[in-house]
Order: sequence, then C-alpha cells, then structure tokens
Amino acid sequence: MKIVVIIIICLLILFCLNRLIIFKLKKDIIYKKLKELNRFYFFYNTPKKIVIEELVNSKKSLLKYNFQEKVLSLINNNQDNLLIYIQDIYHNKKYLKEYNKEYLSILNSMNYNKIKKYYLKKLLNNIKLKPRISFSLKIKVIYKNYKVYKIYKYDDLLLLVKKLKDVKLRKELKRKFMKMERNKMSLGLRYDVLKRDNFKCCVCGYGSLDNVKLHVDHIIPVSRGGKTKLDNLQTLCNRCNLGKSDKV
Ligand SMILES: [Zn+2]
Repeated sequence: MKIVVIIIICLLILFCLNRLIIFKLKKDIIYKKLKELNRFYFFYNTPKKIVIEELVNSKKSLLKYNFQEKVLSLINNNQDNLLIYIQDIYHNKKYLKEYNKEYLSILNSMNYNKIKKYYLKKLLNNIKLKPRISFSLKIKVIYKNYKVYKIYKYDDLLLLVKKLKDVKLRKELKRKFMKMERNKMSLGLRYDVLKRDNFKCCVCGYGSLDNVKLHVDHIIPVSRGGKTKLDNLQTLCNRCNLGKSDKV
C-alpha cells in the first residue's frame, strides 16, 4: 500500500514538473518566434482524396474505359472541385518549402543545452504547421458486379493540368492565326483573284453569266495553315465550293 502511494506521488511530481517545464518553454523566445511565423503562413485544408464513380452499360466499355480522357474532362470542368484541390496542393507545396526554411533557421538559432533543446524541439514540433501536400483521385468504373479503378496521384494530375493548358494554348494560337489570315482577305485581293481566273470557276469553268455565284477560296484551308496569298487562292462557284467543303 505504501509503495503505491509513493509511486502515485512520484508520478504526480513528475507530471507537475513536466507541466512546469512546458509552461516555462512556452515563454521562450524561440517558441514565440515559431508562433509568429505560423501566423504569416496560410495553407489550404484540402481533402486527402476524392473518389468518382462511373457507371457504364456494358462489360466492353468497362474494359476499354478511357481513364485519362475522363480525368482531363473532370479537370477541365473542375468537377467535385478537382482543379481547385490540385491548385491547393500546389500552393501548399510551394509555401511549405519557404516555411520549412524559416522553421529550420529558427531551430538553428537555439543556443541551449541538450536537455532544453530536446524538450523545446518536441514542443515546437507540436505547433509546427503540417499542411497536406499529397492528394489522389480514384476513378471507379462499375458495370453490374464488375469494377475497375485507377488512382491518380497529385504529380500525375499536375502533369495532366499542364497538358490541358498546352492544348488550350495551341487552340488559342490557332484561332488567332485563322482570324488574322481571314482578315487579310481584302476586296482588292478578291478582285485580283477573280480577274486572274477570268471570273470563272477553276473547277467547272462556269462564270457569273451561268447563274452561279463566285467565291474566292483558300486552296489549303486556313484551318490547316493555308495563307491568304494569291497563290493559295482560287475562284470557285458556290456549287463547287460546297462540294469542296464536304470533302475537307
Ligand atoms: Zn464550279
């Protein structure tokens, strides 16, 4: 009985001592520095993963399921906040690097004895910010009792975001080029082409007297990089032009 009481008293003393140490350490300048640092940083509270379920209507479409296409469209539409989460993790990773640097420099500025260092480090580690820097997307494809799934990690997703941006950029550039080329078609240039072709369709030879309308056409279409220049332009009647656009 006596021993039990002694043990309890000892434990109590230890407990109080520990509290006292922590209380004192919390007043330490290093601890305050870290608290101050924490106030300067903001990190997003992103979920660890999201799961998306997709029902298909045959076993064949389950086996041939195009996961990448699905992920690209999910990102593009920001479905279930996917794009936002990827951007959050990007932010967290970027700022965590800076935070860790400052954290280390605070740690290194400690000039205490080993025991104090040990306790203080433990205490600092408790309040150190630990934002989420990983994220995954799981796509489950289901047909009746069959299931296939694929997991995309943050790095895979970031690559796909970049890929999507490249595609968008290329489309944008192409649209600009096409607009520019089409704007080059002036009335003067139009007349030059018609005159060169004797005001007759280059395919069927009909002219405006044959009850057809004459168009000036790009031989290589603008959408395929064709330029608005005399040698890439020809006179076509409305019927032949319609036939051409059917084939292009
Ligand atoms: Zn014609």
